[in-house]
Amino acid sequence: MSYEKVDVPEEGEKITVADDGEELHVPDNPIIPIIYGDGIGQDVGPAAQTVLEAAAEATGREINWMRLYAGESARERYDENLPDDTVEAIKEFRVAIKGPLTTPVGAGFRSLNVALRKKLDLYTNMRPTFHLDGVPSPVKNPEAMDMVNFRENTEDVYAGIEWEAGSDGVEEVREFIEEEMGFDSTIHDGPVGIGIKPITEFGTKRLVRKAIDYALENDRDSVTLVHKGNIMKFTEGAFRDWGYEVAEEEYGEEVITEDTLWEERDGDAPEDAVVVNDRIADNMLQQLLTRTEQYDVLAMPNLNGDYLSDAAGAQIGGLGIAPGANIGDGRMLAEPVHGSAPKYAGQDKVNPSALILSGRIMLEYLGWTDAADLVRDALEETISAGEVTYDIERQIDGGEKLATSEFAERVAERIRQNA
Ligand code: NAP
Repeated sequence: MSYEKVDVPEEGEKITVADDGEELHVPDNPIIPIIYGDGIGQDVGPAAQTVLEAAAEATGREINWMRLYAGESARERYDENLPDDTVEAIKEFRVAIKGPLTTPVGAGFRSLNVALRKKLDLYTNMRPTFHLDGVPSPVKNPEAMDMVNFRENTEDVYAGIEWEAGSDGVEEVREFIEEEMGFDSTIHDGPVGIGIKPITEFGTKRLVRKAIDYALENDRDSVTLVHKGNIMKFTEGAFRDWGYEVAEEEYGEEVITEDTLWEERDGDAPEDAVVVNDRIADNMLQQLLTRTEQYDVLAMPNLNGDYLSDAAGAQIGGLGIAPGANIGDGRMLAEPVHGSAPKYAGQDKVNPSALILSGRIMLEYLGWTDAADLVRDALEETISAGEVTYDIERQIDGGEKLATSEFAERVAERIRQNA
């Protein structure tokens, strides 16, 4: 395929996928698309490249970067927010990484992040949440947290099916709800905004499969379905029921539900089995704090996942270090949780750890676990040594405040030493 708005590097090979649409064939010199993104993207993008290149080289591989444009950089070059070539190149090259993209509040264009996830059908948002030694946290035992959150990325109240108060659409929907569906005194009189919350069997099951597969592949003990099914019975309740169906019908002995575990085995789980249970979302938010160590992999509809993964992220040190990835079938786009923090743009100041750790998820997805481990260890050693960016330095005593690029160099140097 040829692109007008992408320079494909001459060196390097393409990652391909097997006929099952899932299993990746990863060469030792893959071409990897990168979008720096807006605001601090110009600072953290190159810093993450420095570290990821060092990890690849230390394990006998080579990353060939392919710059792609979205957001402000695309507007400057091509006068559009999200060129089709950017989307098509990620589709073709399969595994990519991006920095943050600014979304205007209220008016203006819709989120480019959401557009990318939709166009690429990246239906899972995955956020590993673990504590790195040396990172300040608001809780007493941040090391108790070692969770991986799987958030559904395409439906729920985020589907975008909503009508503004005063619009013709909203009055039509109100009439339909009241007169056709019989909910006649449910909505208060006067202006109303209405949104629809679709949760499908298809969307739920493919998300829950991703969470269970991950738990099995990574020796995790449990997958918890987090829902509000006691109130929203036919959406969140259905999420729970369909989630259990996947667990009961699609896996053998290696996956067991908590009910079966107690009813049939007196709590004695088969060795290496993954236990699937469920928790109501508000209780789960409490248990994140009070019983942190009991949870492992969480699978959630979109809104619960949004709230819960930020709350979990705060417990291990916040936005500067919280990584994520959007995953579909045989395709992934790694991205940090934080936004474009425009006030710090171009100052070589902010913490690149979140993008570096997002890159680490990408390395794991490529099957380069040795390189991924080098990244985590070197990052942890650097932060523990007090060599940190402003956000951490202001919370610890005696730290050395480093620029974004200096911090990345220190991490890369440790990778080379440790390899
Ligand atoms: P933000 O950009 O994440 O920044 C909020 C604050 O978090 C910053 O002022 C800074 O705190 C801290 N922070 C964020 N990233 C940091 C880093 N790498 N190192 C150190 N500290 C960091 O959130 P926002 O201001 O609400 O959003 C700005 C724009 O980003 C919006 O347009 C939003 O839509 C967009 N956004 C994009 C994505 C994405 O692309 N996936 C995600 C979220 C938001 P201090 O000021 O305390 O130092």
